[in-house]
Amino acid sequence: MSFKNKAIVIGGGISGKLAARVLSDHYKEVVILERDHEPAGPLPRKGAPQGEHLHALLHAGEYGLEKLFPGITENFYSGGAENINSTIELAWFHHGEWKVRYDGGYSTTLQTRPHLEWHIEQFINRIPNVVFKYNQVVENLLYNAAEDQIIGVQLKEGSMQADLVVDASGVSSLTSSWLKKRGTLVPDEIMEINLSYISKQYKLSDQDRDWKIKMVYPNPPHEKMGGTISKVEGNRYIVTLMGYHNSINDIEVLKNDTGFVELAKKLPKLDIHQEIENGTPLTKTSIYRIPQIVWRRFDKLESLPNGIILIGDTLCRIDPVFGQGMSISILESLALQKLLQKHNGELHKVPYAFHKKAANIIGPIWNMVITEDFRYPATKGKKPFGLSVQQWYAKNIFLLSSDNQEIYDSFVKVMNLVRPITSLMKPSIIKSVLIFAFSKSRKSK
Ligand SMILES: Cc1cc2nc3c(=O)[nH]c(=O)nc-3n(C[C@H](O)[C@H](O)[C@H](O)COP(=O)(O)OP(=O)(O)OC[C@H]3O[C@@H](n4cnc5c(N)ncnc54)[C@H](O)[C@@H]3O)c2cc1C
Repeated sequence: MSFKNKAIVIGGGISGKLAARVLSDHYKEVVILERDHEPAGPLPRKGAPQGEHLHALLHAGEYGLEKLFPGITENFYSGGAENINSTIELAWFHHGEWKVRYDGGYSTTLQTRPHLEWHIEQFINRIPNVVFKYNQVVENLLYNAAEDQIIGVQLKEGSMQADLVVDASGVSSLTSSWLKKRGTLVPDEIMEINLSYISKQYKLSDQDRDWKIKMVYPNPPHEKMGGTISKVEGNRYIVTLMGYHNSINDIEVLKNDTGFVELAKKLPKLDIHQEIENGTPLTKTSIYRIPQIVWRRFDKLESLPNGIILIGDTLCRIDPVFGQGMSISILESLALQKLLQKHNGELHKVPYAFHKKAANIIGPIWNMVITEDFRYPATKGKKPFGLSVQQWYAKNIFLLSSDNQEIYDSFVKVMNLVRPITSLMKPSIIKSVLIFAFSKSRKSK
């Protein structure tokens, strides 16, 4: 086969696998180059260390995965993932209130990230024109200056040429620094949040619980720590504790075996601590630090060499507390699929259009997330327009969703990326917010 019909994907994480899936309909050969070893099963791996921590799959992500890989959700369940009623079996303490529990008629899948990724990989392995190459470290991009075209990649050992290179190597991607060396600066939006994640898996007693996942979120700005306990495949529970602005002293936590359990005592509610104090730890304690989140605005570049697309965390590493990262990359892959279909025969048009589409996906989510992150005065970055009004409105929505089912239902859909944020601004919700805010201010006088 001529190399002209080949696409290379740098990185075989979730975005790399999904990109390969959609490219396989348009390129004769798609090669995924992944620096890790071939995984022996649904296990955490070095190249994606965040896999040790809780990974929630939002509704938009779940529906998108099913479109790309029909039957995958059933496979999750047969592999042991938990299928829960999203609004009955989630207990969520948020901004000082428990959310109302009711049957909204939708479900959520609970599983570890390695389990999810492993199942995607099984589908990828069945696509005949996708080749997964492990132990391949991409060190540079190959460039044809005369045609302003990326023509392949330089590997630690050897090189490989292709018509298209998709960079799905995540937050440590080399493309920005490659462009910088050639005088092109990618405009970045960066926010300093100094977030730490600390996780551990447990076996808990078999008693009946009225939840499968319990989230205890902080009430900012005074509370900086939160935590989640979630049932996952194998009748295990993953516990993730997180703290903004260096509020977790991880050295102290790792000093001895009780450090993690003691840390859970510092959450706004003791529920998670009470569950794990008599639980059996199944794993070591894992730490992941996120000093900054970043959105690399490739969509704003006046010119990018032809033949390269960036996707997933390569474009945007978002605050993971809201569980959106994987779903963003699934939505991006669906957008890429549509563009590949639209420009079939003129695939050179796809990269520019894709980066614009990806920015439209990321923009509203980024705005929603940083509105919350800015509740902490220590957060540094560019503040969005109308921040205090947005924060005021969102806070009232959070508080109302402790007993107003209609509002919580709309909020759940926005959080799960199946409805736009503007759906929280319909007249009936604005009216409820104004009445609630007015009655609160009268009570406080
Ligand atoms: C602590 C934490 C918790 C999170 N929780 C959630 C959550 O609850 N829900 C959610 O949806 N998202 C969550 N996320 C986000 C989610 O993990 C990412 O959005 C998602 O993994 C993006 O996948 P990716 O493929 O773009 O990048 P990555 O997962 O980073 O994959 C990149 C891949 O590229 C490979 N690679 C890198 N460089 C090279 C190279 N030079 N050559 C070859 N291969 C290379 C790596 O080995 C890796 O396999 C969380 C993130 C973190 C950090």
